[in-house]
Amino acid sequence: MTCPVRIALVGCGSEKREVPSPARDLYTGPLFKGALREALALAGEERTAILSAEHGLVHLDEVLKPYDLHLASLPRAKREEWGRATAGALVERFGASTAEVHILAGAPYVEALRPHFPASWRVVVPMEGLTQGGRLSWLKRAREARTASAAAVIARADFVAPVSREWLAESRGRQLRYFLPDCDDRVDPDFDFATDTRSAKGAWETEQYAHQLYPSPNFDGLLVSRMEAESPRAKARRLAELGVHRYLRVPPAVPVLGDCGAFGYASEAAPPFSTEDMLAYYTQLGFDMGVSLDHIAAVAASDEDRRARYELTLQNASDFLRGHRAAGHAWQPWGAVQGWSPATYAEAARQVVAMGYHHIALGGLVMAPTEAVLAILQEVHQVVPASVGIHLFGLARAEAARAFVALGVRSVDSSSPLRRAWLHARENYITLDGDAYAAVRVPYANGRAAKSLAGETLAKAQRLEKSCLEGLAACERGPVPAGLLDALEEYEALTLPGRKSMRAENQRTLEAQPWRTCPCALCQRHGIQVLVFRGNDRNRRRGFHNVWAWYRLLGKALRREAAPVVALVGGSQLDLFNLGSVTRAPAYAATTGGVA
Ligand SMILES: [Zn+2]
Repeated sequence: MTCPVRIALVGCGSEKREVPSPARDLYTGPLFKGALREALALAGEERTAILSAEHGLVHLDEVLKPYDLHLASLPRAKREEWGRATAGALVERFGASTAEVHILAGAPYVEALRPHFPASWRVVVPMEGLTQGGRLSWLKRAREARTASAAAVIARADFVAPVSREWLAESRGRQLRYFLPDCDDRVDPDFDFATDTRSAKGAWETEQYAHQLYPSPNFDGLLVSRMEAESPRAKARRLAELGVHRYLRVPPAVPVLGDCGAFGYASEAAPPFSTEDMLAYYTQLGFDMGVSLDHIAAVAASDEDRRARYELTLQNASDFLRGHRAAGHAWQPWGAVQGWSPATYAEAARQVVAMGYHHIALGGLVMAPTEAVLAILQEVHQVVPASVGIHLFGLARAEAARAFVALGVRSVDSSSPLRRAWLHARENYITLDGDAYAAVRVPYANGRAAKSLAGETLAKAQRLEKSCLEGLAACERGPVPAGLLDALEEYEALTLPGRKSMRAENQRTLEAQPWRTCPCALCQRHGIQVLVFRGNDRNRRRGFHNVWAWYRLLGKALRREAAPVVALVGGSQLDLFNLGSVTRAPAYAATTGGVA
């Protein structure tokens, strides 16, 4: 059975503006405004229209001149004609198959329209028989009920997911703690994979974080960058109101680290925040640790600019610690360190430690090869006492984990394991033994990837899409169905033209069935769907699985049980990072260079 289309119609009002205006703004009476608000809540922008005595069926944004005509004042035959024409226009716009029409208009409109709707249409007149005063109070109550249910949804979402004592003990004992940067990575917990439908509109209150879907967090803490946290505005407001822990739904025992998100403004002349700003921001939002305001030196436009960024970062670190001490904040201050060579990083680290910091954070290294990072760390290690913890921004490299620890690194962060689920060309799903598989691409035939399809080609694409999805679901129960690889290849050529064929990768994934052997909660629950490259609810779940696997791989590497992690190493890291506005490749001096 197909779901009926819901349409809402609003009757025009007699109070009007005196200048030509879009229909939604032309009528100014409280009854029209209330009815329009209700109609939009019922049917949305696309399926809401206005009934005008003068113009018949009117789009919300159609510009109308003021006029003065009441349907009730027309002779019966004219009303009849109006009803037939307006119902005809509705059928033309929405088709004649099943529909549910909500009419929020007076009796003359309803009486004129009702006889002319197709028999398969259901007509709902919620305010039938009510006086004008009755309709106003009905609209008021409907609005209150809607607001109350929205508040109830938010109230249900506003809680923190518990974490176990075991996880806490293990996490605190880790030699190298892993922070997961938050970029609103959430999914619909009740997404229906069989019918491909969401249970609710995607929003903070209806979605869940990875740590709500796994028995325990797959990280030792979360990282929130201010550049990420400030947009959209609604997010910034909610964060300010709830604080970071409640926003992220983690208890106070899970540490949340804050930074500025310097890659997001790396190409600007100066950071968009001030040190005072940052101190207030970390305090108001309830961070556990906050990093001083930095500006990436390695991507500077000139030697002079590089030097200025370096000095600015040091000056900010000094002001930050002074401000922090003066105010007696309870959260931990971390000093940011920038540089462009082993010697410049080491000199900055030395100065920041001398200021009195117990924790320093090295930034600007995301794009540096592991050997360059190790060379920098070796110099930094010489000047940083063992009591000072070092954090590496954006660098989660399992192959170097033990070397990092030996050089004083106590924590790292990276969203690379998560994002490779949809950003990497072919290594989208990682396994506990360090292997990687391609996800099987079945983009939505009506989605972005295929928006140029039309007519016959679109119909063909839709048939192929259906058979690919059915074939993949069959892989869950048995061997790869005959013809599936062909269908996938054909569909890929239609929807992702110009891409190299993924046939060999698809075959490898479908024959190896890595989802069957993965013990993680998401693979256990959703099986092959985690390996299908299609929309947020599948792709991000695969990202969550990757973080789960990566967190364990890191643990193995630290315990010297390192499996080959080749798939996670090297140049492929580069395209996994959202580098914001960075347009220049950073220059790292290969060897020791003085602070010029
Ligand atoms: Zn898994």
